[in-house]
Amino acid sequence: MTERLPRIEPNDFTEGIRQAAAEWDTAGGPPRDMAERMAKAGLLGADLPADYGGSARSARSALQLGELTAALGAVCTSLRSLLTVQTMVAAAVLRWGTEEQRHTWLPALASGERIAGLAVTEADAGSDLNAVDTTIERDGGRLRVNGRKLWVTYGEWADILLVLGRDGDRPTAVLVETDRPGVEREPVSGQLGLRGARIAHIRLRDVEVPAENRVAPPGFGLSHVIGTALDHGRFTVAWGCVGMADACLEEAAGHVLTRRQNGVALAEHELVRAKIAEMHLAAASARALAERAARLRDDRAPDAASAAFAAKYAAARAAASVSRDAVQLQGAAGCAPDSLAQRFFRDAKVMQIIEGADEVALLRIAEHALGGRRARTAPSRNPAGNEAAR
Ligand SMILES: Cc1cc2nc3c(=O)[nH]c(=O)nc-3n(C[C@H](O)[C@H](O)[C@H](O)COP(=O)(O)OP(=O)(O)OC[C@H]3O[C@@H](n4cnc5c(N)ncnc54)[C@H](O)[C@@H]3O)c2cc1C
Repeated sequence: MTERLPRIEPNDFTEGIRQAAAEWDTAGGPPRDMAERMAKAGLLGADLPADYGGSARSARSALQLGELTAALGAVCTSLRSLLTVQTMVAAAVLRWGTEEQRHTWLPALASGERIAGLAVTEADAGSDLNAVDTTIERDGGRLRVNGRKLWVTYGEWADILLVLGRDGDRPTAVLVETDRPGVEREPVSGQLGLRGARIAHIRLRDVEVPAENRVAPPGFGLSHVIGTALDHGRFTVAWGCVGMADACLEEAAGHVLTRRQNGVALAEHELVRAKIAEMHLAAASARALAERAARLRDDRAPDAASAAFAAKYAAARAAASVSRDAVQLQGAAGCAPDSLAQRFFRDAKVMQIIEGADEVALLRIAEHALGGRRARTAPSRNPAGNEAAR
């Protein structure tokens, strides 16, 4: 299936979808073969080992993944979100899956032949994933899964779901193929942002899967399996937001240099210049934190997960403020249906909620900032214990 599409450069790919991205936002999403096309452009599997169908060849794959993610994020958040969920699930399977699970799923995800969804959120479990009540019951050699998962990005397309539930009181992760009896999808439309991300709520009604579909032992589902996925998600969301902020700044700068009011270009007004300066600082700071997160990740440093949290927080805020200012500086043009800034303005708000809402991220960042100092100055205390939070 993948052989039919020629290999293309990532930049040609992102240029090619620039116009279509605005249409996908109003028409409900990209066509299904986009995943394969992304794979052909090297946008999927960039950080997976070649043994599992990926293209990671060097130790510097996190930075490479980051730059690719930013390039895609600068054009289409919905498609960048496909990269994010696909690589989130792949990262969790690579780290915690069995050899059989890796060989079954990773090449198919890297090639875009199969689409993955992360199914963790429920009606009463959002920021606090300890509260999930999806059940994963053992029945001989099989597992029976019951629950309702909300807001699954690409849930409409997903071939495989990484589901968080509980086996008794132990958080447990399981892979559920969506062609199994009992999987029902309800497409979601009209949400604030990510309008092209084929989101669905998913009901799992007495879905039976082999016991071999469990990822890691019961009890490790949240802290380890989903923890790995969310960490990866924060990293790619951060880089996607870097791309959004850069693109909005680029568009706004082009506009204020050419649009004339009161006999001069808008860029001649000091208040406009001040806004451009703030946008530049926000975008550049976000990029610096994302690059730091990539370096620590490539070095397998203990601080890598905290750095991803900080980068995601800063970059989502930068994307939100820069897109807001880009709409402002473009006036009515920034509000037009095909305006990149208005689309990113809506998408950026979502980025401040998912993979750890801003407030949750601040708590984690403060904990990290205090942690080392506390160890040096006071008797140790158990940290906030919110690994259960996103
Ligand atoms: C477009 C979109 C796509 C999504 N995709 C997926 C997906 O693919 N898979 C999936 O499983 N889920 C997905 N989600 C769900 C998303 O991860 C959750 O919305 C998010 O984790 C927040 O949970 P919640 O909405 O229940 O908000 P809540 O947890 O109810 O929080 C609401 C607000 O309360 C505040 N808050 C929460 N906790 C704290 C705290 N400890 N301290 C201070 N303030 C706090 C924050 O402001 C937060 O925004 C998606 C959501 C959206 C909108």
